[in-house]
Amino acid sequence: MPDIPTLFRDDLMTFRTLDTADLAGKRALVRVDFNVPVDGGKITDDTRLRAALPTISYLSKQGAKVILLAHFDRPKGKVVPEMSLAFVAEPLSKLLEQPVAFASDAVGPAAADVVNGLENGGVALLENVRFHAGEEKNDADFAAALAANGDVYVNDAFSAAHRAHASTEGLAKLLPAYPGLSMQRELEALDAALGNPKKPVIGIVGGSKVSTKLDLLNNLVAKLDRLAIGGGMANTFLFAQGHDVGASLCEKDLADTAREIIAKAEKAGCELLLPTDVVVAKKVAPGVETAVRALNEVQADDLILDAGPESAKRLLAAMDDSVTLIWNGPLGVFEVPPFDEATVSAAKHAAALAKSGKLVAVAGGGDTVAALNHAGVSADFTFVSTAGGAFLEWMEGKTLPGVAALEA
Ligand code: ADP
Ligand code: MG
Repeated sequence: MPDIPTLFRDDLMTFRTLDTADLAGKRALVRVDFNVPVDGGKITDDTRLRAALPTISYLSKQGAKVILLAHFDRPKGKVVPEMSLAFVAEPLSKLLEQPVAFASDAVGPAAADVVNGLENGGVALLENVRFHAGEEKNDADFAAALAANGDVYVNDAFSAAHRAHASTEGLAKLLPAYPGLSMQRELEALDAALGNPKKPVIGIVGGSKVSTKLDLLNNLVAKLDRLAIGGGMANTFLFAQGHDVGASLCEKDLADTAREIIAKAEKAGCELLLPTDVVVAKKVAPGVETAVRALNEVQADDLILDAGPESAKRLLAAMDDSVTLIWNGPLGVFEVPPFDEATVSAAKHAAALAKSGKLVAVAGGGDTVAALNHAGVSADFTFVSTAGGAFLEWMEGKTLPGVAALEA
C-alpha cells in the first residue's frame, strides 16, 4: 500500500487523501484517462491503463466497488460505436489480474445493472462518458445521473483536469471527492517543481514557437530564478535582440513580445539563458552537413536547428547551480539527429543530477516526453508528466477546474 498522508496541499489548495475515506462496501466512481492510442483495434501504448492501476487496486483492496468513468476520442455527445470503450475492459482486466465488467452506458439502467451486480472489491468500466452531450457541457442533470451510481468520487485523471466536464468537475460537487493516487502524485510533483519549490529553480522552455507558449513564458519569468530558452522560439528572442537568424523558424511579429518578456524577467530577477552559439544546416534532414556558428555568423540561408555546444555547456552548469528543474520543450529539432545533441546532453545531465539526489527534475509536454525517452532518461527524472494540455495549463499558472473541485 502506498505511503500517503491524510491531507496534502499544493501552494494554494488542500486535498483529502484516499486513506481517510470510508470505502468498504461503498461505490467509488473513479474518473480515469483511458484515451489510449490505438492502431487497428489494438492499444499501442498502455501507459494510461497502468497509471490507473494503483488507485483501482487500492480501492478494490479496501472493499469498494470500483466503477470507472472515462472518455475515448471525440464522439461529440453522440453514440459512435467505433469510439466505444468496450475494447479496454480485457487489457485492463489482464493488467489488474481481476475481472472487469463492462456497462454499455455510463448512466441509466445499463450502468445501474452492472454496478448493482458488483461485489465488494469488484471492478466495472462504464461506456464512454462523451456519448452524452451533458458530459462536455458539464450538465447538472447528467452529473446527477452519473452520481446516482456512486457514494464517493475519485479523480485520477490529471490529464483531463483542465476541462470542466461532468465527470471531471461536476461530479466532485455531488459526492465526497478525492484525488486518486496518480493524481496525487502528479500534484505533489508539480508542487515540488513550481508551486512550492526548493530554490534556486531553473526552467527550460523550448519547442517551436513563442506564440504557443506566451502564457507559459510570462508565468515562468515571474517565478523562476533562471530560465533557459531554446528551440525554434529562441530564434524569436535572438531576432528581438538584433541578431540575424537567417532562414530559421522565427516569429518576427513577436519581437516586441519577446522584448517585453526579457524586460519582465529582468524586473523579476529571473536570469535568462539564451543560446550564445547555434547549430545550423541548409535543410532539415538526417546526416546533412552542419556547422556551429556564433550569433554574429549566421548566414542568410542558414536554419538554426539546435543550440550550440557552448550554450549547452552553460545550461548544464546552470543546472549544477540549481536544486529544482522544470522543463517543457526540446532545445532543437531532436527528431532529426544530429539536431538532438543539446536536448540529449541536457536530458542526460538533468537525469544524472536527479538520480544522485541533487536536483528535483520535473518535465512534461508531448514532444518533451518523446525527447526524454529518445535520450533514454525518463525513468531517472523525478517526474515526467504525460498530461499534455493539463500540464501546460498548470505550468501557465492557470487553475485547473478538475483539481480545484477536489479541494477539501
Ligand atoms: P512539447 O510538445 O513538449 O510542448 P513543442 O510542441 O512546443 O513541445 O515543440 C516541439 C517541436 O519543436 C519539435 O517538433 C521540434 O522539432 C521543434 N523545434 C525545436 N527546435 C526547433 C528549431 N530550432 N526550429 C524548428 N523547430 C524546432
Ligand atoms: Mg508538441
